[in-house]
Amino acid sequence: MNTLDSRKNLEKAFKKGKIPLAVDKSVYKRFSGRNMIFARVMWDETYSGYRRAINEKEGTKVGMKGYSQEGYAAMNAAWMVHDNFRQAFSWDNPRESTTSLTQSTTKLGKFFSTNLKKNSAIVKRIGKVFGSCSVGITELNPDYPYLYTHNRKNDPIELPKGIKFAIVMLIQMDYQALKTSPALPASITTGNGYSRMAFAIASMADFLRNLGYQAIPAGNDTGLSVPLAVEAGLGQFGRNGLLINPKYGQAVRICKVYTDFPLEIDQPIDFGVTQFCRVCKKCAKYCPSQSILYDDDPTWESPWGSFSNNNGAYKWYVNVETCYEFWVKNSTECSNCIRVCPFTKPPGLAHDVARFFIKHLPMLDPLWLRLDNLMALFPWWRYGKKDNADKFWEGKKYLGK
Ligand code: SF4
Ligand code: SF4
Repeated sequence: MNTLDSRKNLEKAFKKGKIPLAVDKSVYKRFSGRNMIFARVMWDETYSGYRRAINEKEGTKVGMKGYSQEGYAAMNAAWMVHDNFRQAFSWDNPRESTTSLTQSTTKLGKFFSTNLKKNSAIVKRIGKVFGSCSVGITELNPDYPYLYTHNRKNDPIELPKGIKFAIVMLIQMDYQALKTSPALPASITTGNGYSRMAFAIASMADFLRNLGYQAIPAGNDTGLSVPLAVEAGLGQFGRNGLLINPKYGQAVRICKVYTDFPLEIDQPIDFGVTQFCRVCKKCAKYCPSQSILYDDDPTWESPWGSFSNNNGAYKWYVNVETCYEFWVKNSTECSNCIRVCPFTKPPGLAHDVARFFIKHLPMLDPLWLRLDNLMALFPWWRYGKKDNADKFWEGKKYLGK
């Protein structure tokens, strides 16, 4: 079978929901974490975002609508735990602790249990206590393509022998803050998500080490998070390259812990996202830097010509270079594509009915999209409309949340 035939079969299987991800392994290879846009800004002198910090214009922007002093104070504070708890993200940072980050620390002896269902249940239970709103588990194949070859410092990455599973944890973001994107409150919930990721993965990893197993906590480092979350049954890929979870939509951050603790794995889910994204395109329309594609179907290669995109996966590629440039211009992150995504809206009866039909009757997708647009027109309802930052600070109650 030639590449073209196998791609056609993969596309078919993907569209029918038989496989969660379509990857042409003759093209798609593990790539370096240094190619990620956030790593490239530190070393790639040819990129216009080289050495440009997201908040470099903080001083000139403060006082403008949506960019208050308290906003910047809260945004910087929200990142505080993430930025100072470097050990939580194991591969990119100096190992300051005398405790090994991967090896067992238990004095009680190894916890032996062949009951995989029970093992997964305790991991999921404790994951919730550690701050995750949803936990999924997947297995790493021997030729797993979503691990980076190198970290940001260009050190090679290989997981220690025996590591076979990934525990993927979602951290919920604040919808009211997201509704103000691209203004500052949306960045507050982003930073806060990363800080809570640090807490969740550090605690989960230490829990596993105390059971006598290896554990490597990771945020955006070590490997790609979205494919892992998809394989762990936590959602599907959206047009903007982010995870869409059936309950929280895109209002989540993803972190993971790699381990050799034997676990029962979860199965991927299909609740109609790919079909819906084909007609929706809202994220593309509302993207201020026009970094998201409008094509009906995903593609196998990035049209953007950026080596931050890894070709050979069937998806809608995002222009991460122009996206990051907008962040610099905005002087804080942007979450517009998350904000406008119909799946991000909080649960409620109308929304749940729509989700049911999106899953079971995709031919009605255009209708739900129209209704979603229509509901935003009621001024008293402002369903899914952008809010100004003052509303966030006033703390007024929002519909459905
Ligand atoms: S984060 Fe903002 S700029 Fe980047 S792709 Fe999403 S909408 Fe566009
Ligand atoms: S906004 Fe629409 S097209 Fe974009 S990810 Fe969400 S559902 Fe898909």
